[in-house]
Amino acid sequence: MSSTSVTFLKGVKGKRALQLKELGVETLDDLVRLIPRYYEDRTNIVGAGNLTEGACVTIRCRIMRVSFRQIDRKRSALNLIVEDNTGRASITFYNQRWSRDKYEKGAEAMFFGRVTRGYRGLELINPEVLILSGSRTSALDGDDVYGGDDPVPSELEADEFSGIYPVYPLTKGLSQKMLRKFISEALRLLPDFKETLPPEILSNTGLSGRNEAMRGIHRPESLEDAERFRRRIAFDELLETRLMLLMMRQSYTGSGAGIRFRHSDLTFMLEKALPFELTDSQQAVWRDILSDMTSSRPMNRLVTGDVGSGKTVLAMLAMLTAAGNDYQSAFMAPTEVLAEQHYNNIAPLFGSLGVSCALLTGAVSGKSRESILAKIADGTVKCVIGTHALIQSGVVWNRLGLAVTDEQHRFGVRQRGSFMHSAENACVPDVMVMTATPIPRTLGMILYGDLDISRLETLPSGRLPIITYLDDGRRRERIYKWAANIAREGQQIYIVHAAIGDDQDETGAGDGNGFGQDDDNGLLTAVENFSDAGEKYFQGIATSLLHGRMSDKEKNDVMRRFAAGEISVLFSTTVIEVGVDVANATLMIVENAERFGLAQLHQLRGRVGRGKLQSYCVLMSSRRINPDPPDDDLISRRLITLRDCLSGEKIAEEDLRLRGPGDFFGVNQHGLPEFHAANLYTDGDLLELSESAAQHVIAAKSGPAKDYSDYVRAKLPELTIL
Ligand code: ADP
Ligand code: MG
Repeated sequence: MSSTSVTFLKGVKGKRALQLKELGVETLDDLVRLIPRYYEDRTNIVGAGNLTEGACVTIRCRIMRVSFRQIDRKRSALNLIVEDNTGRASITFYNQRWSRDKYEKGAEAMFFGRVTRGYRGLELINPEVLILSGSRTSALDGDDVYGGDDPVPSELEADEFSGIYPVYPLTKGLSQKMLRKFISEALRLLPDFKETLPPEILSNTGLSGRNEAMRGIHRPESLEDAERFRRRIAFDELLETRLMLLMMRQSYTGSGAGIRFRHSDLTFMLEKALPFELTDSQQAVWRDILSDMTSSRPMNRLVTGDVGSGKTVLAMLAMLTAAGNDYQSAFMAPTEVLAEQHYNNIAPLFGSLGVSCALLTGAVSGKSRESILAKIADGTVKCVIGTHALIQSGVVWNRLGLAVTDEQHRFGVRQRGSFMHSAENACVPDVMVMTATPIPRTLGMILYGDLDISRLETLPSGRLPIITYLDDGRRRERIYKWAANIAREGQQIYIVHAAIGDDQDETGAGDGNGFGQDDDNGLLTAVENFSDAGEKYFQGIATSLLHGRMSDKEKNDVMRRFAAGEISVLFSTTVIEVGVDVANATLMIVENAERFGLAQLHQLRGRVGRGKLQSYCVLMSSRRINPDPPDDDLISRRLITLRDCLSGEKIAEEDLRLRGPGDFFGVNQHGLPEFHAANLYTDGDLLELSESAAQHVIAAKSGPAKDYSDYVRAKLPELTIL
């Protein structure tokens, strides 16, 4: 039954089914797994004569008078005077002309809304309505689920209307009312939900039963109940995720012993060859890595550190340790540009130490690809730098001892597991992942709970904090002239755009924030700006375009010339977001900054401020920036947070706060299942509970806890198949 298609429900056909699909709903089971975004408490039922300003109230009354006024071409006001035995009240609907025929004098109806001081004193403005009698139809919000011949709503519906009213995520064309109908119909059809949690966990945590929670969440009697049910469902999500990660970890660390590397002289030689001293922070993390590598347990370590904190050199030290022990290492970067850059930095240095390197990306093809694959297979190449091409089939390692992934957040859990399996040797390679993505603690526990974590706490010394300015376009002229001066003084500039231009648009801007996708108003594209600003401000200065529609060869070529200082101003898209390292770039201008997410802007900004020179970042917004933004002005709040804050960690916390439940930091990007009920920002206690429950379950050899781990293991392939 649970896998029955939603089209089984009355009123769900073609168009409706497609709309539900947009919400990720195809089966009855999907439908009842929709979690209300929030609830409206409509239980405050008052008399029409007893309204108090600001209160959210439900009134049940008779319509005494209906009047309609067209204010101008667009605006109209429909006014109702209603009455019950406590007195009269006024209700006004603005701009709802289409509903004027629905209200009849003498009809009984219920209204829910906030009491506002309006044109006629205290009144309800655009409230929710349920007409109980005497109307021609009860379908008031323009929905056509059950047509106009719907029977007059029952007292049951009146009860629901004035209860704790769930509000679901919607998609265009669907109304709350329809979803509520569909969900209650599905709940009626579905059998009881089986309890999945072992009884000891249920009693230890005091959580509600599964059936009670799955049903109750859609029709709780109180807000407290709603929260109780949500917590149960959230706990299941967290526990399952933790268990999956633990199981993945077991599957690879359990499959063989780690390699016991010896500390290699090559690392001392590298330290001597570097133009700088390692910071204390880098030294501490290097000690962690070395102690992992020299132990017999396979390394499984995450290195986090803000943009520019100097992670690459740690990867180099680890790779040299492997090379010194005659093992190969793989260094995987998320983009071609970044892989190429790493290769250009690393290969000459390693070459001088007698360690041979190769670059393997999707762009390497034909003869040269074959020759590189052959050298990986026979072991002549010790260190292979590349993109996910490294973990594709066809790559056979001779003696893989270490796998490093850079900017891990771009890969996700799936790829993380996959290096281990690609190893031909009996030993399990050491794994190290590096990320600049500042991860709030709670999210880190979920995402990287299977890893040991080291953190680079400080930036290399001598760096000046980046200065960030916000502008809404009014000072564009001045800013671009200033940029031209900076370029003439020999420093370099990134100008980042949310779109490429010409015919296509999105380049991944916005990080899934779901705004600004439809209207192209005020969108300045890279192509457009390259030609306009190039001509207007940057005459005689070397400029270039860089975006995702260029071929890999073109991209790498531009990047190489920018790195070499041959190009002064780069008009790009977010292709430069990750990892690119040019110390002489001191200014970044982000056009349409309002279209990017906080975390993404922080990553972008990290491209400047990488040397000893003072760097600047200008965030240009096509919308007015409110210096003292209200809570719902997310754009202003994001930009101001960024201006005032340089710490990735603080920005990540704020990101989580601003995005609110259900949309955390691209959890999906990380390759983890999406959380519907869990709120990683506020459910810290649940996360801790799930952690100890997971340990209990994983240790169980029999009984209900073992059943539960089998149940989760059965779902595991979704996460690990590559
Ligand atoms: P990220 O952590 O963002 O990957 P990188 O490894 O690219 O940072 O390092 C950023 C820049 O800082 C590079 O140019 C690198 O050479 C330089 N760097 C790294 N460590 C130090 C150090 N200890 N002192 C000075 N500069 C350093
Ligand atoms: Mg890096």
